[in-house]
Amino acid sequence: MVIEVVRIGQRLVRDDRVTTHVALVSRAFGAEKIFMTEVNPEIKDTLEKINGTWGGEFKLEFIDKWKSIVKKKKEENFTIVHLTMYGENINDIQEKLQKEKDLLVVVGAEKVPREIYELADFNVGVGSQPHSEISALAILLDRIQKGKQFERIFSDAKRKIIPTKNGKNVQVKETRD
Ligand code: SAM
Repeated sequence: MVIEVVRIGQRLVRDDRVTTHVALVSRAFGAEKIFMTEVNPEIKDTLEKINGTWGGEFKLEFIDKWKSIVKKKKEENFTIVHLTMYGENINDIQEKLQKEKDLLVVVGAEKVPREIYELADFNVGVGSQPHSEISALAILLDRIQKGKQFERIFSDAKRKIIPTKNGKNVQVKETRD
């Protein structure tokens, strides 16, 4: 299963930190790519640095229009999953989602255009209370992959954490220039 994420409707500057966290959760929870409208090019630098240190090939692509990406992914047979508190409860739908092939997960920022509800194959609520795109995305990705995302190996990492009961154990890969 390939999972990609698109964030729609973020606001200039005000949302930078949340946008970065949406990208970090996507990467750490097993998605391969995030699309977002260009807000701050520094977000791309941050992600490149994280890949450089902690490995993997997570990609970030800036887009002009979210709708063209959603339509393109539909043509590529991705299933479109829109996270919204108004959607079907994740508890009722997670098994169906686990069986899908490739997924494009759509998360909103402030105001979500009505059209996305119709374009989505599934409108999914992580509960029916308002919270955050960061938490909704993390829980969706975890429910779909059932924790397997945390066994994933991030290739070419310069640093690797060895989980320990106490303290910090980090393997540092030697590099020669
Ligand atoms: N009030 C906004 C609206 O109606 O579009 C939602 C703003 S919310 C801060 C930003 C995003 O978080 C939403 O677009 C949705 O993707 C996600 N989100 C928040 N609560 C959610 C929930 N209970 N279930 C699923 N997604 C949720």
